Amino acid sequence: MKLLYVASECAPFVKTGGLADVIGAVPKSLADMGAGVRVMLPAYPALSDLLKSGKALKKYKDLFGGSARLMSVSSQGIDLLLLDAPHLFDRTGSLYIDANGEDWDDNHLRFGALSYAAADVAQGSLKSWRPDLVHIHDWQAGLVPAYLKQSGKPAPPVVMTIHNIAFQGVFPASTLSELKLSKTLFTPDGVEYWGKVSFLKAGLALSDKITTVSPSYANELLTPEFGMGMEGLLKARQGDLSGILNGIDTDVWNPENDSVLPAVYSARALKNKAKSKKAVQKRFGLAPSDGPLFCVISRLTKQKGLDLLVDCLPGLVGRGAQLAVLGTGDKDFQKAFKDASAKYQGSVGTIIGYDEQLSHLLQGGADAILIPSRFEPCGLTQLYGLRYGTIPVVARTGGLADTVIDANEAALVADCATGVQFNPITTQMLDVAIGRTCALFNAGKTWDKMTRRAMRHPVGWESSAQAYHQLYSALVET
Ligand code: ADP
Repeated sequence: MKLLYVASECAPFVKTGGLADVIGAVPKSLADMGAGVRVMLPAYPALSDLLKSGKALKKYKDLFGGSARLMSVSSQGIDLLLLDAPHLFDRTGSLYIDANGEDWDDNHLRFGALSYAAADVAQGSLKSWRPDLVHIHDWQAGLVPAYLKQSGKPAPPVVMTIHNIAFQGVFPASTLSELKLSKTLFTPDGVEYWGKVSFLKAGLALSDKITTVSPSYANELLTPEFGMGMEGLLKARQGDLSGILNGIDTDVWNPENDSVLPAVYSARALKNKAKSKKAVQKRFGLAPSDGPLFCVISRLTKQKGLDLLVDCLPGLVGRGAQLAVLGTGDKDFQKAFKDASAKYQGSVGTIIGYDEQLSHLLQGGADAILIPSRFEPCGLTQLYGLRYGTIPVVARTGGLADTVIDANEAALVADCATGVQFNPITTQMLDVAIGRTCALFNAGKTWDKMTRRAMRHPVGWESSAQAYHQLYSALVET
């Protein structure tokens, strides 16, 4: 089976969040099942070195305002198709926003071009390779089925995955002609969304199947609370919607051979985890302490519920615990954690920034990872936490609910607990969860057992890649 993945991020090449980790990992597991995946990605500056060794497969004289090429290159076990369109992607700044923190004003053209070129490939524009199925990810690839539909030519089936419904790619109706979209698609069962163009809506309305990244989030999306305006459409398409849990790349995230850690460790031999803890305490300006060390590795946004955590800091510190925060995002949250680090010097430490290596060290050195998200499609940091024996303390929502087994009395007796959950998602309940975690930590043996159990919990891609494979097979065979 030949599969075309279309996405705006792919680890380890370009990453702002969990989407990249997924796109970088699933193709490898699918390859083990005999499926060949090519990942189509914009050629951002971070990919310029790779681009040099690429082979041009197709040229466009004018792709939404400038010339462009589709380049083929393989790196780190991933076959990439890079859309080299300098007028759209060769610019400094982040993937989606400019230096002032505003969305690039031509984002519709940037990701419209990605979708346009992907539709082209799907319909056989590369003589050497034609996919049996296209899998599009999030709004940035949402227009692929729209372009396929308006071309009227035979097209392969399309699967769309929602990694986070909060991002919908909504633009004024006037962009329709700039995007070379036919007016006939500007209807409620096409790309139209409350009088505007929505890339996400287009993908959800026109793809053959829809998936999201956990079974709980698939259910939540059908409600007004979580569906963010798309719940009606998703309800109408409920029969085509399923939740397939994300996994993690267990080669990249492995405490038994992680070169970032001062000393490796395993579920059998945990002692060396303490060396990482010391390294984290040093790096974050925390005092040497044997109390529980919590960490946060996150975008600092309202979604992640970190305002609740700020309010819980007196209780956390009062229980003799410490907190190390690695994150970047909203200025208010950055300031709140910086201020807390000054107020609780030696107990709370904050590093503002995005640092992949440091995130590995934190997973290695912390005792527990806090994830109080208001909603969480799947979440990956709790899975890394499980793998590294860093107990996840999570809000009971979306994928967090599906991946962490709460250490209630029954679960402890049954020897299956892997973390701590709380609900409702309030400051008060987060404070209770932090208190429960500290008590478990202080119970020594129970904590030790839970840590080893967490590390053995299956978090790889095997079963989910199989679920994707089944979904693709059913579509390709029909
Ligand atoms: P989301 O995609 O909503 O941001 P996920 O938990 O699915 O949340 O994925 C976040 C990914 O980004 C994880 O791989 C996490 O380790 C990483 N990450 C988040 N913030 C940082 C940071 N400041 N530094 C390094 N890695 C980070």
